[in-house]
Amino acid sequence: MSSRPGKTAPRLIQDILTYDPRYEERAGRNILTDPPPHHDPTKPPERALPIRNCRHSFMTKHDQSLLPVPGVFPDQKTVYKVASFCQNCRFHLDLVVDFSDYEIRNSPCPSKDYPLHHFIYQAEDVSEGNMLGNSNVPKTYRFQCSSTKCPAELRIRMRPPRLKDEHIRLMTDRILLRKRLESAKILDPGRTDHRMARPVDGYDFLSTYLKDSLNPTRGKSRVPLLNRKFLVTFGRDCDEMLRGLGFSREIENPGNGDEICWHLPKPPAPSDPLSSSDDSLRTVIQDVIEELSVLILSMPDSEKQGVRNMTYQPKPSQTEIERALGCLDYSKRSMTRAEVKSAKEEEDHPYYAGLGALGDFSDELLLFAYSRQVGTDVANSPYYFECLQDLAIGRKSSMLEEKVQMLASQGQTNRKEVAKAYSSLGMDHKHAELLSDEIIIGQFKSRLQDISPALEEDTRNMLRIIGQARQSQRILQEASNAIETYEQALSWLDLDPGQPDEFVQTMFTVKAADSPANRDIAVKAVEIIAESRNSARLRDFLRTGAMGAPEMDIEEAYRLLGIKNRSETIDFAVLESFLVVQKDAPYNDADQLQQAYDLLYKERGKESYDANVEKPRAPSHPLEIWPVGCENIGNTCYLNSVLQFLFTIRPLREMILNFDDFRQEPTPEALESKRVGRSTVSVEKVKTAQEFVFELRKLFQMMITAPSDKVRPDINLAFLALFNAANATTKGNAPGQPAPETNTIKGLGDINGMPLLGPMPNPFVDNKSVNEIGIDSTAKEQVDSVLSDAGSLGAAKLGEEGLGDWKEQQLLQEDSKTQKFEQDKPDPPSRPPPGPPPVPPRPKTTQQSNNNMHALEAVARQQDAAEVLQNIFDLLRCAMRPSATMDDGEQFDLINELFYSQITTARTIDGVTNLNTAVQDFILTSPGDRNRHLYTVLDDEFDLVEEDITTAQCKRHSTKYEFIDHLPPILMINVRRLIYDANAKGTRKIECHIAMPETLYLDRYLHHTNSLSAVELLERRMAQWDIKKRLRQLQRRKTELEDVELDKTELKISLADVVDGAADYVDELQKTEAEDSDLVNLDPLPIEPGLSEQMRLRAHHLRKDAELLSEPIRELEEESMSIFADLKDHPYLLQAVFIHRGTATGGHYWIYIHDFKNNIWRKYNDDVVTEVTDLADIFTQEEVYPATSTGMVYVRKDDVMKLTEAVKRNPAKPPPDDVEMKDAGSDVDVEEYANIEILNGVDLKMDAP
Ligand SMILES: [Zn+2]
Ligand SMILES: [Zn+2]
Repeated sequence: MSSRPGKTAPRLIQDILTYDPRYEERAGRNILTDPPPHHDPTKPPERALPIRNCRHSFMTKHDQSLLPVPGVFPDQKTVYKVASFCQNCRFHLDLVVDFSDYEIRNSPCPSKDYPLHHFIYQAEDVSEGNMLGNSNVPKTYRFQCSSTKCPAELRIRMRPPRLKDEHIRLMTDRILLRKRLESAKILDPGRTDHRMARPVDGYDFLSTYLKDSLNPTRGKSRVPLLNRKFLVTFGRDCDEMLRGLGFSREIENPGNGDEICWHLPKPPAPSDPLSSSDDSLRTVIQDVIEELSVLILSMPDSEKQGVRNMTYQPKPSQTEIERALGCLDYSKRSMTRAEVKSAKEEEDHPYYAGLGALGDFSDELLLFAYSRQVGTDVANSPYYFECLQDLAIGRKSSMLEEKVQMLASQGQTNRKEVAKAYSSLGMDHKHAELLSDEIIIGQFKSRLQDISPALEEDTRNMLRIIGQARQSQRILQEASNAIETYEQALSWLDLDPGQPDEFVQTMFTVKAADSPANRDIAVKAVEIIAESRNSARLRDFLRTGAMGAPEMDIEEAYRLLGIKNRSETIDFAVLESFLVVQKDAPYNDADQLQQAYDLLYKERGKESYDANVEKPRAPSHPLEIWPVGCENIGNTCYLNSVLQFLFTIRPLREMILNFDDFRQEPTPEALESKRVGRSTVSVEKVKTAQEFVFELRKLFQMMITAPSDKVRPDINLAFLALFNAANATTKGNAPGQPAPETNTIKGLGDINGMPLLGPMPNPFVDNKSVNEIGIDSTAKEQVDSVLSDAGSLGAAKLGEEGLGDWKEQQLLQEDSKTQKFEQDKPDPPSRPPPGPPPVPPRPKTTQQSNNNMHALEAVARQQDAAEVLQNIFDLLRCAMRPSATMDDGEQFDLINELFYSQITTARTIDGVTNLNTAVQDFILTSPGDRNRHLYTVLDDEFDLVEEDITTAQCKRHSTKYEFIDHLPPILMINVRRLIYDANAKGTRKIECHIAMPETLYLDRYLHHTNSLSAVELLERRMAQWDIKKRLRQLQRRKTELEDVELDKTELKISLADVVDGAADYVDELQKTEAEDSDLVNLDPLPIEPGLSEQMRLRAHHLRKDAELLSEPIRELEEESMSIFADLKDHPYLLQAVFIHRGTATGGHYWIYIHDFKNNIWRKYNDDVVTEVTDLADIFTQEEVYPATSTGMVYVRKDDVMKLTEAVKRNPAKPPPDDVEMKDAGSDVDVEEYANIEILNGVDLKMDAP
């Protein structure tokens, strides 16, 4: 099978009409036989043709042709020959279409399936001594139609003119003509009418002689040499040319004056145009006559008087050629007049040439051309697909676009995708032809070992694309067979290990529907899962397409209830409340869950009870003086941190508790001018937000009045705070905020309107860097799961969708909750007595994909404190009335007042400074790569940024820095702790310590302070920027010296060590050489004596250099710190520190909060609140597996008492006999503790911004 692209007949004709053998070299290719270069869409299309190429104007030479007869179809005897001749360049073209190979190929194009011939170049016939490839000899190219049913073979022969340049010069050069005149005068001095011949005369006479020779008539067969006209026209120096044309010189009447005559050529009789040789004298003479006619025509009219051979009426050959090639009336697309015009003036887009087509092809013919190219040249099918894709768009053809989509859905990829696939496997697609399938598969396998399992499926897809592009069954098989392990199968189906068989079935259906090509792989994946789980139900499903009823075993029970670690003690109370929620979720099989619970309870119930009995716990502090803990309701520890923090902010807490005074009226009229995050707010939004505030109020009330040391936040509260945040970010951002890239809930579809949640990228991850490096969504998800560098104000908005559903479910749930407790409660679900939490298996509900709890978990996994806080602020602001309206229409309220800064960016370009002020709810910082002080970290954020802006017009220098216009009384600083690590191909948490001062002076970041004017402060900042610049230079040098990255490892060693190592190697070499010295060493290593010593000395110097850098670096750092040391007008005190321990993929959050009144720090770790006795816990970082700060809160020193209050307790008297039996969180009856102290409005005077 041919692996060359071809050309449809019309395309080939177009190429014939411009193929010019004379300029083949300049064209860089033979435009007739070589496939056109692949077009690079990033570059402007190149001219397909060299400008000088002749646009041939072929005229038919009827005598030499065998033309098709209109209306007669070719059969096995048919051979067409169109002999023609270009009026411009005088090249001859013979086009022979031969249908004689008719035995099997008996359906010549055009036919139904093959509306056009599609010619593949076969070979050049070099039988005629054309071995040198000289452009002055004829060239013959053979083509074959690619249809297996079409017998057409095509020979294209281009012959240079018979009359060479030297012949033309002989006949037309005036100097030669003058010489001939002089000679004639000498030879025949008697005659006086000698006149110089005109250049046209030679053509004219020769043409006459040759025509006479073809039609010999008596008396016209000879020309006396001394004929006057002959003498002045040809003289004696044209002999060779004449002989070459078959003239013969003879002496007549010998002895009798010896008259010398030229006899005309005597060509053979006319014969079959096919069998006669190109070089038969008749053909040569015919050709020369044609050439002479054209030469005569090209003479100026003034020269042509009296010329005999003026009548020349050639017929253009194009129609004959088109008829011979079966494309006289191919189907063309309808074009507008403008399109027709530009089609005439411009070359077709190179993609047309790529498909072997022309711009005027109808869509159907274009598709045909595409299918032929792919059919004959699969290796380049991605390119042809790209051509088709682009042309479909360019033509705005829905038919083509549909076809393109269909092809894409069948796995056809374009060149870009293939290039990406190759490069993702570390190969260059340009070498594709050199790479064997084995090499590619080998590369793929070695790549698999280097990457995380999460990236594996992506890598397989890349291999699949390459396999498709190469049409390599081997590679495709490798790509699909790749699912071999249980983990791979799960990952291919986007499943978590805990997910039940039903969900395996669901994902199978989803995946198989994605693409038919996936189906086999999906089957294989399910087979593997069925084997691994030993699931009869999945096997049933594979066999019958349906699943039988589940038979519960203890394994299934664990999985359904999300318990992974079976050695842990199970807190059945927790499990039970989990169950209640689970069973109410619409997609869960309540019976099944109950069955699982019962089974587990039977197995483990007693043990759990015993375990709990042994660990009684008494409250460590009197309830009245100690804050309550918040139970973890499902990976929401950071939510608890946030709630605890908010509770300690006194004006905020009082606002929540007295919310009725702040409540926004939820009517369209009232909301008309309300702007939160610069967006309007809908009635729905406000209602949802208020629902959240009511939940929060309920929690705060419980936190004050609960007769226990912990409370349980309602899942509704958690859901509104968390889910809403994720949902909200899909809804829009404040203007000027970078749009979060992919934060929609990923499409596993939905069931009854409830989304099925898949991995969701974090809306606030630095998408740009992540994308540049190309980590996949799984890695992104990892980024999400711990913490994120949340954007800023207003990014979170209320989501309306999803919440409606959620609310309905809540209502249903509320209804059924009590019933469930009464009816379904298994026998004694013994509530464990108070004590340290027995670490119940947290209801990790991964197996329950389609329920609220899971939704909550899924959202919770990829949010962090900063983000939740941001969302809560947004909710609060939507729920409350504005206390004022700012200039830009934005609502001003307690949240702005307490937390929002105004930060101005001063950007200077070409000496012009622009100020741009934005509101921010926190300051985002990066820890950097070493332990640093908070000032240093903040300094970086407020550093001078210099950049060169290069545009097409000019290069400009810009500088930029920020200052704080307005400081809020409560300043939150968040720390961006996750970075992408290119070496590890994943996200990594930076654990560098940030040393936090208890008092932070913010003077240096302001515009001016009480003691320093703006100018004075800026001067100091500039001095510091300068120092920092020098510092960076020194540090860069130090890094060069100390951190040489070894290739492909994460090891870093110093340059000195590298040189030392090299010196050792040199020693080793010399030693080896010495040992071998008794042998004849033919190729001794040229090692300079003492080389290794020199190297060691150099290493020593390098080490010294690096050491020497440490001192100036330290000095500069100190200097930098000291610049602002005296600025103490704006002191802030550390009030809270958000803490995370764990990795990029998971961990635990807690918060330290300072109680200014009692001057103690407390640690709020979910349901346990303890006093921090060793402040090192907060301020010093552990060496191993350290907990790290992810955010800190500073409060204006003068206001700490007004603004914060850590303890606010008024516990209700517990019922005497049932001290801890009530689940304080989920069930507590608020009305029962009606003696809540209602606090009045906010008694604070703060500057409005
Ligand atoms: Zn030409
Ligand atoms: Zn054909």
